[in-house]
Amino acid sequence: MPAWIDTHCHLDAPEFDADRDAMRAQATEAGVAHLVIPAVAREHWDTVVALARRHGDSYALGIHPLYTPNAREQDIAALRETLARLRGDAQLVAVGEIGLDFFVPGLDADRQIWFYEQQIALAREFDLPVILHVRKSSDRLLKTLRARPVAGGIAHAFNGSVQQAQAFTDLGFKLGFGGAVTYDRALRLRELAAALPLDALVLETDAPDIPPHWLYTTAGQRAQGQAQGRNTPAELARIADVIARLRGITPQALAEATGRNARAALRGLPAMA
Ligand SMILES: [Zn+2]
Repeated sequence: MPAWIDTHCHLDAPEFDADRDAMRAQATEAGVAHLVIPAVAREHWDTVVALARRHGDSYALGIHPLYTPNAREQDIAALRETLARLRGDAQLVAVGEIGLDFFVPGLDADRQIWFYEQQIALAREFDLPVILHVRKSSDRLLKTLRARPVAGGIAHAFNGSVQQAQAFTDLGFKLGFGGAVTYDRALRLRELAAALPLDALVLETDAPDIPPHWLYTTAGQRAQGQAQGRNTPAELARIADVIARLRGITPQALAEATGRNARAALRGLPAMA
């Protein structure tokens, strides 16, 4: 059975409070050998570190763009102190999740950019890769990365153009693909997942967000009492099967290549069996 790496899983999310350990064990049974747990805000950093330690997973520390309205400027100083304290910890693999979201309405773009650029400066100071949230913001993210390069990383839930994909890979990034490719109507994204060079791809569930189509219910179905299925890291194996089929390769070949790619992007990741 292939050994998968879920390069983006919010294991600290409240959706998992009731059965987190059981769910993590289920992921192992499904062949998901390792998780990368990115943080979204200062209040989550301790939890994310503790969860990674508990299960032998990896973590990233940062402030997510959707959390910038409540973040404080002194959180950047706190992030620097935390990164300094944890420097050399083998399970700390990146600064993340950071980035820009120009899709969700009502967010202050300048404030997002300030937090993004402050955290890029920390990634450079500590020589860490970054895990990027990219939503209608590729070009602005790339502008900063070209001026102030970092040690690569992952553009997570990538959904840009071939040219933007190329621009990220030129800067040492891998592109994260997950549940969004399982929808038949996601034609452009599926084409991208099939056509990009194999060494550009890493896999992720983004659990509990972005459910694959087999867990998704429409608003109408939900109104009739049919619950939305919960996305968990165990879904990665089935999501990966979809991507392997799109590319015409075996799941084993995809697991080996994306495992290699994940280790290239996040140097601290352990080798899988
Ligand atoms: Zn995320």
